[in-house]
Amino acid sequence: MDIHEYQAKEVLSNFGVAIPQGALAYSPEQAAYRAREMGGERWVVKAQVHAGGRGKAGGVKVCESDVEIQECTEEMFGKKLVTHQTGPEGKGIYRVYVEAAVPIDREIYLGFVLDRSSQRIMIVASGEGGMEIEDISATRPETIVRATVEPAVGLQEFQCREIAFKLGIEAGLVQHLVRTLQGCYRAFTELDATMVEINPLVITGDNRILALDAKMTFDDNALFRHPQISELRDKSQEDPREARAADRGLSYVGLDGNIGCIVNGAGLAMATMDTIKLAGGEPANFLDIGGGATPERVAKAFRLVMSDKNVQAVLVNIFAGINRCDWVAEGVVQALREVQVDVPVIVRLAGTNVSEGQKILAQSGLPLIRATTLNEAAERAVGAWQSDLNQSTKVRAS
Ligand code: GDP
Ligand code: MN
Repeated sequence: MDIHEYQAKEVLSNFGVAIPQGALAYSPEQAAYRAREMGGERWVVKAQVHAGGRGKAGGVKVCESDVEIQECTEEMFGKKLVTHQTGPEGKGIYRVYVEAAVPIDREIYLGFVLDRSSQRIMIVASGEGGMEIEDISATRPETIVRATVEPAVGLQEFQCREIAFKLGIEAGLVQHLVRTLQGCYRAFTELDATMVEINPLVITGDNRILALDAKMTFDDNALFRHPQISELRDKSQEDPREARAADRGLSYVGLDGNIGCIVNGAGLAMATMDTIKLAGGEPANFLDIGGGATPERVAKAFRLVMSDKNVQAVLVNIFAGINRCDWVAEGVVQALREVQVDVPVIVRLAGTNVSEGQKILAQSGLPLIRATTLNEAAERAVGAWQSDLNQSTKVRAS
């Protein structure tokens, strides 16, 4: 789960990371009011969306009066901000963060990520802050400093000092950077984050180290034990299909293709997507309905998949190990009676009680396309989608 910049800043500041003074606003009037309340002469108004690259896309504006703040936030509210990270549809701006502008001397990139190959938390830093890390690694890879943390002992002070020296931080500020790094590390581990990024971390004209931007991502599977974090969820920033799935306890990732997938088990779901691609199709989603696929769950899955207007065929692929094919078949039949599905449905069942399952599908009288192997199922799904496509173009042409 992602959170907003202002939320990440508040979380990190509770762990000792210094941030500029700032205030959140839900309307242009409130933005201007909060700037007046804060005082000062220059403010930075920042659109709160779950994406980076806001600066280049017009989502970060420096303002010098409350009138100017009111005007520029009127331009922002209710609009979609399109950055290189949002995709062409953009993300809605419903909140802005007003910050006291700070004089910047130096910008630093700082990231904490999970490095899968070393199975450690890795710190990535660079003196070339302000640029995206992808651009830094493409143009100035020699400036990137990396350190991995040994989980048994945690992040050590000497590692932090070493990072400070490699970044060329002046002696008087080293201890401050150490505190920043350790604060981020503690926030990362104690809150089950998967990513903490401060870009830029700045050294100000008056010699302070401040997080000018902050991004945090959390492990969804650990959210249940951090109620204060799960409360920060903002569904307006999520793919509506994925938000709906999460609310129903289904593990779903929306994709751009046309073949909807209803599968039990994450591994089988991945294999199903691969096989669809191999057969020349494009999956519309990843969906793992889990082990105990009750009829209700199968119906929920159908409803979810059918709510995606791009779906032109549905492939149900169930391997019943703990489950039973006859139960799943009953679920499919029940789901198709409840949910309006006006596209071809291909069902492949394998495992426990497969023949009973097939019998239930056959006797249902529903126009299901059955398949025995995964390859066959994928080919039939792609074939059904293509012939459906030809038919609809024929209809349109005539
Ligand atoms: P992003 O584009 O979504 O990553 O948004 P950032 O929060 O990183 O803001 C983009 C850029 O705006 C930063 O890299 C800074 O250069 C600039 N910026 C943000 N806040 C301030 C500020 O308080 N003072 C000044 N001078 N520049 C700022
Ligand atoms: Mn940034």
